[in-house]
Amino acid sequence: MSVNRLQNYINGEWVDSKTDEFVKIINPARGELLCESPMSTKAELDAAVQASQEAFPDWRNTPAVARARYLHRLIEVMEENFNELSIVQTREHGKTIDESRGETRRGIEMVEVASGIPTTMQGFNLEDIAHGIDEYAIYQPLGVFSCIAPFNFPFMVPLWFLPFAIACGNTFVVKPSPRTPMSQTKLFEMLDDVGLPPGVVNMVHGGAEIANGFMEHPDMKGVTFVGSTPVAKHIYRKCGETGKRVIAQAGAKNFIVIMPDAEIDKAMVSLIASFFGNAGQRCLAGANLLVVGDDKTYRSVVDKFRDAAAAITVGDGLDESVQMGPVQNAESKQRILKMMEKGIAEGAKLTLDGRNLNLVGDLPGDCFLNPSVFENVTPEMSLAQDEIFGPVASVMRAGDLDEAIDIVHSVPFGNSAAIFTNNGKWARQFQHDVVAGNIGVNVGIVAPMAFFPFGGMKDSFFGILHGQGQDVVRFFTECKVVISRWF
Ligand code: NAD
Repeated sequence: MSVNRLQNYINGEWVDSKTDEFVKIINPARGELLCESPMSTKAELDAAVQASQEAFPDWRNTPAVARARYLHRLIEVMEENFNELSIVQTREHGKTIDESRGETRRGIEMVEVASGIPTTMQGFNLEDIAHGIDEYAIYQPLGVFSCIAPFNFPFMVPLWFLPFAIACGNTFVVKPSPRTPMSQTKLFEMLDDVGLPPGVVNMVHGGAEIANGFMEHPDMKGVTFVGSTPVAKHIYRKCGETGKRVIAQAGAKNFIVIMPDAEIDKAMVSLIASFFGNAGQRCLAGANLLVVGDDKTYRSVVDKFRDAAAAITVGDGLDESVQMGPVQNAESKQRILKMMEKGIAEGAKLTLDGRNLNLVGDLPGDCFLNPSVFENVTPEMSLAQDEIFGPVASVMRAGDLDEAIDIVHSVPFGNSAAIFTNNGKWARQFQHDVVAGNIGVNVGIVAPMAFFPFGGMKDSFFGILHGQGQDVVRFFTECKVVISRWF
């Protein structure tokens, strides 16, 4: 049986890559081969950037309201294909179908917000800055931008950027993750359906070579990146060298702080979704559960948390009864197992061992883990410090909120942090003092909506302007000031 090979989308055409290197895309739940994805060549990257560059002059002169109409059509097509889009995400990534529906919905919301561009791109002006002289600030698109995407939200993440970039009048090239390239391929089928002028959006499959090619290309105006911290640092440095605008959203190790007055029974659904949703492969996932209070409070919180984690059903995400899917590939599982072994060697106590598989149905175990809970974790341990990106919770203790905030600050990351409490003073201190881009108060997954910027601090973000919302409109435009006098 011939295997479907994904194509690139360049200048409004689907084209076969000329590479002889292909990555096999395997459904992590069932082990079946889904397709092969090309590690495209430098010439293919060059062709995509050239098509974008050639499309730019006409596209930037297309009125903003007409550019927005393409996005309105895209929203319609996405809604019509909502189920199919969600199924593709589950098949290539492993997340549950419900999680994929959430991702599809969030992706559509990005396009909805981006379509407000005739308003959000407006500048400002003042008459009579001096007698008979007026001054205007106008925002203009710059040219070709790109996105280098991670594996974990294969549909949504490029939509944090692409619709805003093209709404502003730029043109765009996406490089999907080589681990999960099918969801973007589906998105590009829809972009093709809406009939955008050739070259406005392009997609080139591949890995680091294509990503580095973006940063080296003289016609590339800016790069958006979402992925791990070591690669984000490389991207940020390289964009500095080559003079590109850059947004680099990076890794995380998020704390959830439980205060003694927290309504733990009401909080549990939110906590469990935060730690184990998407099998822990979320940059906004809870990773460290930090309990403040005496022994009785601690035991009650942790016993409830561990019992709820143990009750999660694990299996193929397409099965509606399943609450957690596999991790995305066998390498991820092996990496997580190694980190768990290191944690045990450092003295942490594994009180729920997700290595003992308990799956719904008869499935290959290569990519599966059940939820794990470690107790007796201390701030200097690797379990507390390093991003595991899997269904593993590290439980820690603090005597009071001040100590808890010090512990939150002991990790190098600052993507999100949440506090569960009924005490407004504690919540206010937490939001004020904690160095993290997204703060939750009785909210476990602090995911900003499309009309707010996606924050991140410390080793979780490199750049100034963020993805989404008004920030990204500024990122994709240059402000020009005009001062005019008429004699
Ligand atoms: P990754 O860093 O391995 O890969 C991300 C992208 O970078 C891929 O497209 C990959 O092909 C490319 N890449 C890999 N090595 C490269 C190199 N040396 N040079 C140039 N490009 C390279 O990340 P991943 O494993 O796909 O995604 C998971 C990571 O992403 C986690 O660390 C997670 O926290 C992070 N993430 C962050 C956010 C956020 O908003 N902060 C959101 C989602 C995921």
